Amino acid sequence: MPLLLQRYFAQRQVIDALQRKHGLAVTAVKLLAVSKTKPAEDILALYKAGQRDFGENYLQEALQKIRQLAHLDIAWHFIGPIQSNKTRDISRYFDWVHSVDRMKIARRLDEQRSSQQPALNICLQVNIDDEPSKSGFKFDELALIIEPILTLQNIRLRGLMTIPKAGKSDVEQRISFKKLAKAKEQLNEQFGLQLDTLSMGMSGDIEAALIEGSTMVRIGTAIFGAR
Ligand SMILES: *Cc1c(COP(=O)(O)O)cnc(C)c1O
Repeated sequence: MPLLLQRYFAQRQVIDALQRKHGLAVTAVKLLAVSKTKPAEDILALYKAGQRDFGENYLQEALQKIRQLAHLDIAWHFIGPIQSNKTRDISRYFDWVHSVDRMKIARRLDEQRSSQQPALNICLQVNIDDEPSKSGFKFDELALIIEPILTLQNIRLRGLMTIPKAGKSDVEQRISFKKLAKAKEQLNEQFGLQLDTLSMGMSGDIEAALIEGSTMVRIGTAIFGAR
């Protein structure tokens, strides 16, 4: 079996094993294969092995692959930084956007998403460790933007996403992820919502993310190899 598929199946087993180890519902987590910088052939190979959700960071590169693979029923997730001049194509060609980090971007995605398409699923990116260099909402900003976002008809708020600070211990990772999970619950209570998505966990911190209730792990390196 090619190395790519070996890594892919191994990664799925790791996730299953962690879920069993911690008594988590095995169906609750979606694996998002982060294919940035990797060729369409790799995506096709994983597709044939049953993978349907792929994450991309760089718009031009992603659009090429999306065109090449347009005949497949892939769910494309945009997870990278978003400049306002990119929202048109993102709104048109993706099914999910995990990295909505300002109200202006949410508005543009809503305006540019065709009403003929299903609503675009979005997550709000949260700057969980308050890093000056990182984009994302602060926790106390979240409650202020929920109502304006809920008025937008062509996007559908699904939950929260985060990229925690690098180099943290397991315990610190769990503390950050727990904060994100709690923020989602609070928003659900305060606004009567049913946000169902916590996009958290990457190759290096899956276990902490799963324990704290991740519903979508974004895995690149552990499947596709180094970039
Ligand atoms: C690249 C990237 C990932 C995947 O990271 P790996 O460490 O390769 O698993 C996940 N999330 C985001 C936002 C990324 O940019």
